[in-house]
Amino acid sequence: MAEGDHLYNTYKPPQIEFVRGEGAYLYTDKDEKYLDFIAGISVNCLGHNHPVPKAALIEQANKVWHVSGMYQLTEAKTLAKKYCDALPFAGKVFFTNSGAEALECAMKTARRYHYDKGDVDRYDIIGFQGAFHGRTFATINAAGNPKYVKGFGPALPGFINLPFGDHEALLEAIGPNTAAILVEPVQGEGGLRPLPTEYLRTLRTLCDEKGILLIYDEVQCGAGRTGKLFAHQWAEDAEPDIMAVAKGVGGGFPLGACIAREDVAACMVPGTHGSTYGGNPLACAVGNAVWDEISKPEFLDQVVRVSNFLKQQFEGLKDEFPDVVSELRGKGLLCGMQLKKPAIEVRALMLERGMLGGSAGDNVLRLAPPLIITEDHVREAVDILRDCFEEARKMDDFVPE
Ligand SMILES: *Cc1c(COP(=O)(O)O)cnc(C)c1O
Repeated sequence: MAEGDHLYNTYKPPQIEFVRGEGAYLYTDKDEKYLDFIAGISVNCLGHNHPVPKAALIEQANKVWHVSGMYQLTEAKTLAKKYCDALPFAGKVFFTNSGAEALECAMKTARRYHYDKGDVDRYDIIGFQGAFHGRTFATINAAGNPKYVKGFGPALPGFINLPFGDHEALLEAIGPNTAAILVEPVQGEGGLRPLPTEYLRTLRTLCDEKGILLIYDEVQCGAGRTGKLFAHQWAEDAEPDIMAVAKGVGGGFPLGACIAREDVAACMVPGTHGSTYGGNPLACAVGNAVWDEISKPEFLDQVVRVSNFLKQQFEGLKDEFPDVVSELRGKGLLCGMQLKKPAIEVRALMLERGMLGGSAGDNVLRLAPPLIITEDHVREAVDILRDCFEEARKMDDFVPE
């Protein structure tokens, strides 16, 4: 068997092996250079081999690698305080190793909150189609994507999926069983679709009226990616009660967190939840270093500047290739384009030309470069994309399934 044949075939990667990274570039074993415009899908927010989190990881590795939550988690406490100081709603944090686990904790917290108040039948979690929350049983059911639940047994009760942004359907679906509304402020996997900021506020008001908890999944759109620390901060008065984060907050080290209002998290008493590695010192040491970098005002200013430049350049591409690009999508550096030609094939053309990108639902070319990119990286990306679109012009139009 060829090397790698023992891994589950859940991905079908090209025969490219990256052995090192530097800033916005990855290098293969043959020292070929690739411009990384996907960053592990919104993970390596500081790019590759950034000195600050690297130093933090090495320093922590020299101290202690693992301590259970049975004892004081010093680095985790420091990081939790930073999150709570930055987020007016936040009072308590549960650390995880991944986004799905952060969502699991968020949904458990919501149900338990109502349960403890005596509302034992409030367990429904309502979301919008196109959502993605991870690959555990609860998260595939919460997102309700038929492709991801198929073949994995009976649908779990307690989850409702509505057409994207359908407010009428939402009002109708809310009832005595509703525990929470769960949305991504910007849908990643679903095709880089932002919920309008006014709509986030509408959801906030609705939840307040009905005693429902509002949960945001900012696993992909958070951690500075849109030019604010968290995407919902573009909206005024639209804070959640609970928020799940991961991906970018670890910058490449497995780290996630469920961040909640203090009174909401009060239901999660000893014995209700746990995680062996949650709050791990190595992960939280990196998380602290990443946070200190991305939360600098000048860092976020630069993300806004470069994403404005990128948007302007992409507008240009759209005008130049009306037969290839149908729509620009996303927000900040979670950006992309809905294409008329197959996005997956365009992605393959990019790869041949030394650029990494992703795809998402709705035939969207998904780009999530490291947040440290400069205008020069954007120019390089646009040149490669222009070349790919010239080629893509000759392809047959994309036909949805
Ligand atoms: C990636 C992602 C998740 C799941 O995160 P994992 O770390 O893969 O479990 C959840 N929600 C959103 C929006 C994501 O993009």
